[in-house]
Amino acid sequence: MTWTNWVGNQSFSPATTATPRDEDEVVALVKEAAGRGQGVRVAGAGHSFTPVVQTDGLLLDVSAMRGVVGTDRAAKRATALPGTLIRDFYEPLWADGLALRNQGDIDTQQIAGAVATGTHGSGTGYTSLSGVVRGVRLVTGTGEVREIGEDEPDLLHAAQVSVGMLGVVTQLELEVTDAYRLREHVSLRSWDDVMGDWDRLVAEHRHFGMFWLPTEESGALYNLDGHGERLQDQCYVKVYDEVGPEVPDDDTAGRRVDRCYRIFPMVYDPNFHELEYFIALDRAPEALTAMRELMLRSLPDSIYPLEVRTVGPDEAFLSSQYRTPTVVISVSGTPGTDYWAYLRAVDDLLAGFDARVHWGKLHFLTPERLHAHYPRADDFIAIRRELDPQGMFLNDHLRPLFE
Ligand SMILES: Cc1cc2nc3c(=O)[nH]c(=O)nc-3n(C[C@H](O)[C@H](O)[C@H](O)COP(=O)(O)OP(=O)(O)OC[C@H]3O[C@@H](n4cnc5c(N)ncnc54)[C@H](O)[C@@H]3O)c2cc1C
Repeated sequence: MTWTNWVGNQSFSPATTATPRDEDEVVALVKEAAGRGQGVRVAGAGHSFTPVVQTDGLLLDVSAMRGVVGTDRAAKRATALPGTLIRDFYEPLWADGLALRNQGDIDTQQIAGAVATGTHGSGTGYTSLSGVVRGVRLVTGTGEVREIGEDEPDLLHAAQVSVGMLGVVTQLELEVTDAYRLREHVSLRSWDDVMGDWDRLVAEHRHFGMFWLPTEESGALYNLDGHGERLQDQCYVKVYDEVGPEVPDDDTAGRRVDRCYRIFPMVYDPNFHELEYFIALDRAPEALTAMRELMLRSLPDSIYPLEVRTVGPDEAFLSSQYRTPTVVISVSGTPGTDYWAYLRAVDDLLAGFDARVHWGKLHFLTPERLHAHYPRADDFIAIRRELDPQGMFLNDHLRPLFE
């Protein structure tokens, strides 16, 4: 069989595939593969743009291991199987007065896939989904089941962002929060206006994010409706704030009020490839201004919006927010076009800002940059070697960085 990711830029043919229904089956499959000297990777929902799923060995599909298996309102915890989609959390959590603390632009990823790459939303007061992981069960390269909790902080911080290199995750425990409602506020603002107001926008809202639109057509590429206003060189600014129960629901575009999980997700078509880098938040206006200048000056064909978000710090060894609040800069290109020169130019520019990368999005990270910008990379590699001594969970994309 040929496996292809959601957007269609990654395909490969594994030697074998399997769809385990429970942890015991995962253990048996991993042990058999180890006996054959075969590599193993897990496919989540296939929403990564990078070759993080790729294997010529055994490919596991854990979509049958799906569902929220427990919530604890007092402790603010939720436990889920690896193939649980982000959207599967909504109703069970809400029914118990709980919600995810934060989430990203889509909700169709599997939780183990989203956590593996450090999937995030926006807001300096909130971490990525990885940052709220408080427990991980996984099947290691020796076929052993390890239950990792807060009493083993190094293991936990390695497992929070592992890109599938520590083993097959069979269960995750997340810290969640009390159920909350959000008010959205969308506005079109000039670049200078947003940069002048940057600190306030970032500090005063639960979530601040924006899309800078280089051309008039840019909005349509991400389904951003300008309601007839001029879009070229404008910022489509979205802020979300928590509101109390006295504020009525509103479904008016641009000022919706609803349960948090109905406000967060956007609608995307599989028509773009994305690169995403993270810069220390205190360098945000400088880096963003340099990005806009690069696109205006040298890259007139790059018409996809420049997406800008923020993420709060966490402790995960491979996290792009390791002990650093960050601004997130995402750029896209059209599938089928040669956009590599553009992405290289962005990489060159943002390397000068000590950028970290999104593991699920296109990047040009080298071992030198990994070790320069991820201070716990060696600690991660040591734990990876301990849990997977044969390197069966590495693949051609990850081996040069993590062997
Ligand atoms: C339209 C779109 C919007 C997006 N929006 C955002 C966003 O807002 N914020 C953001 O941060 N990212 C975003 N992403 C990126 C996406 O969240 C990540 O790439 C995420 O990892 C995808 O999850 P998945 O379930 O599809 O995992 P996959 O892409 O299938 O896999 C990701 C990694 O997880 C590993 N994995 C999966 N399951 C397991 C398991 N059980 N055990 C061990 N390893 C496992 C895989 O082997 C792989 O290494 C977006 C992507 C798209 C296409």
